[in-house]
Amino acid sequence: MSEEIKKDAVPKVKSIKKMREIMTAYYIDAKTARQNNKKVAWITSGGPVEPLYVMDVIPVYPENHGAMIGASKMGVGLCETAENMGYSRDLCSYARADIACSTVNGGPIGGLPEPDFLVCSNNICGTVLKWYEVQARYYNVPLFIFDTPFCHTEFSIEARHYVEKQVLEYIDFLEKMCGKKFDQDKAREVLDYSYEGQRLWREVLETARSKPAPLSAFDAFFHLALIVTLRGTKTVVDYYTELIDEMRQRAADKIGSIPNEKYRLLWDNLPVWYKTKWLSDKFASHGACLVADTYTSAWCKQLDYIDKSDFVKSMVDCYTMIYLNIGVDQMVDTVKGMVEKYDVDGIVMHSNRSCKPYSLGQYDIQRMIQKATGVPSVMIEADMVDERSFSESQIDTRIDAFMELIKQKKG
Ligand code: SF4
Repeated sequence: MSEEIKKDAVPKVKSIKKMREIMTAYYIDAKTARQNNKKVAWITSGGPVEPLYVMDVIPVYPENHGAMIGASKMGVGLCETAENMGYSRDLCSYARADIACSTVNGGPIGGLPEPDFLVCSNNICGTVLKWYEVQARYYNVPLFIFDTPFCHTEFSIEARHYVEKQVLEYIDFLEKMCGKKFDQDKAREVLDYSYEGQRLWREVLETARSKPAPLSAFDAFFHLALIVTLRGTKTVVDYYTELIDEMRQRAADKIGSIPNEKYRLLWDNLPVWYKTKWLSDKFASHGACLVADTYTSAWCKQLDYIDKSDFVKSMVDCYTMIYLNIGVDQMVDTVKGMVEKYDVDGIVMHSNRSCKPYSLGQYDIQRMIQKATGVPSVMIEADMVDERSFSESQIDTRIDAFMELIKQKKG
């Protein structure tokens, strides 16, 4: 039998207030960019953002906006608007929501600021190519495509040269768009902040190794926005430094993210933004905390590839070797490493109708992890933004059955 969760049993995380203030200020800056003679670039979540900060361009992430749309439960309306425009329901719901949002200035912040240009990298998926082409036509602005070859098993010399050439072309493109030279000193500073921000983000996530975990994957989904949108700035470094202190103190005081942690789970794939609270409460009712996830940890993986003395090489390696641009074997290694690092009892896999590159290999990963570690997993079929793909009763039953299995296994 599951337990009732005692509301307010866990003290609130103080940093949340600051995080909200930072994100509000970031969107105000972006929305007032024109008045302040600044340029705005829309960029994909896996796109090289550091060069934009070097050039004082404000990067705006339609995917981050998509997450806000999902969390505000505005996804269905916008997805339906896109479908009425002729876009298939099979298309990624971030893309559908964003394309629709532009035409109605909808969503939780009344639409994104208009872009001066777009930057799209296909290191996360092929969908973004067409999505960004559509938006470049809609706003009648230039589009830079940063093409990264898929790294099934290795990143060859030829592929490396190919990507390097594009980093240089990207810098040329930015110089033309901004009418000024790329400042190498500023590039070093931005790369340092990017490295430090990611190092600190990794430390934030690793506080969840403590038992009980002071931070859950659901908390990490919330605190992730800064490393995505402001990576390469001092704001991120300052914020995560404070967050680590708070999380370490909570760990020392044995304050868990959930009231009574008995089981530790790993989450795979994007969050179900409109159901994070429901899912968090559901698992907590079984004494289960999702202590880690493959999604938020992808934003510190680039640390392994940053060479602080070489900006261009860092961009090449960081943005080619990201989680969705590597083969299933490497993904399995990553998941296996996390199972051990966070000492998890089970894995929850979100088979995400929207995100094919994240979801296609999941059944293989599930099988391979089960074979290698014996750790059981459950597959939940849903969508990150489009609530029509979430069957609460079915998922409720599936989680109950999975937790029974975990309880029996752990004894
Ligand atoms: S398909 Fe997946 S990777 Fe591509 S934009 Fe959508 S959520 Fe992101």
